[in-house]
Amino acid sequence: MSEPLPHPLLGGRFASPVEPGSGWPDDVATPATPVARDPADVERQAADAVAADALAAGAHPPGALAAGAHPADAASLADLTAQISVCRACPRLVEWRETVAHDKRRSFAGEPYWGRPVPGWGSDRPRVLIVGLAPAAHGGNRTGRMFTGDRSGLWLYGAMNRVGLAATDGSEHAGDGQRLTATRIVAAVRCAPPDNRPTTAERDSCAPWLRAELALVLPTVRAVVALGSYGFDAFLRGMRALGGRVPSPRPRFTHGVEAAIETADGRSVTLLASFHPSQQNTFTGRLTEDMLDAVLARARSLADA
Ligand code: SF4
Repeated sequence: MSEPLPHPLLGGRFASPVEPGSGWPDDVATPATPVARDPADVERQAADAVAADALAAGAHPPGALAAGAHPADAASLADLTAQISVCRACPRLVEWRETVAHDKRRSFAGEPYWGRPVPGWGSDRPRVLIVGLAPAAHGGNRTGRMFTGDRSGLWLYGAMNRVGLAATDGSEHAGDGQRLTATRIVAAVRCAPPDNRPTTAERDSCAPWLRAELALVLPTVRAVVALGSYGFDAFLRGMRALGGRVPSPRPRFTHGVEAAIETADGRSVTLLASFHPSQQNTFTGRLTEDMLDAVLARARSLADA
């Protein structure tokens, strides 16, 4: 752990990685939050979180029996968020995220780095769900919030603001006042991976967290925007695991594609695909502002319908 440095917006000093419960904006974990140390722990804790939510709603578990049948209890979602944010189940990713947090990019050398898994954020009863790949090493892994503190985030939040899904067009740091409107952003893999490439084993280890979050928020979701094929595939896998019906032939990722997915309780959720707002796509013109705006505007109109 590195020596404490001042948070660039709030001034309080934090170690890198940030200690749970030390006051980082939006950190809901505490030193007592249970830590998953291997994939079996992730599986068990994620299933327990869904079962606890069902109990809170007066439904009868076991497991995911009642998943998707009622809006999430805010405390259940906060518990899940806390547990995700302290997970240590993937040794390679834990080492990478903490090494990046310790060494830092030169331009951020005077700042603390979050250096932990980046949980979902936004509404706890979203009508729009945005699914990305994983946090960026010097973006989400530094700021503790998805698509925050990097160029991809400027693109995404700019577009979200233009269509009315975000309060401002910027996303500098957790604690910057950004608010999402009926929208939640999650990643398929919650730790920053080297070269943005998680291994298949890491993807599978993290999948129960996504599945549990889907189980908790799906009852209110009308539209899902997958940013890139990785998030697209992860969402479809998660839906299948939750008993949803994916059309056959299985929808293939391409920008602008749209597919109706039936949830286990018979509702329809529309999956929309956009190219990821990575610099590789935005610098080359593969993804333009108009293209991203159109997908998000469609999600907004589905959410409002
Ligand atoms: Fe845990 Fe997911 Fe990070 Fe692996 S990638 S350590 S499962 S949060």
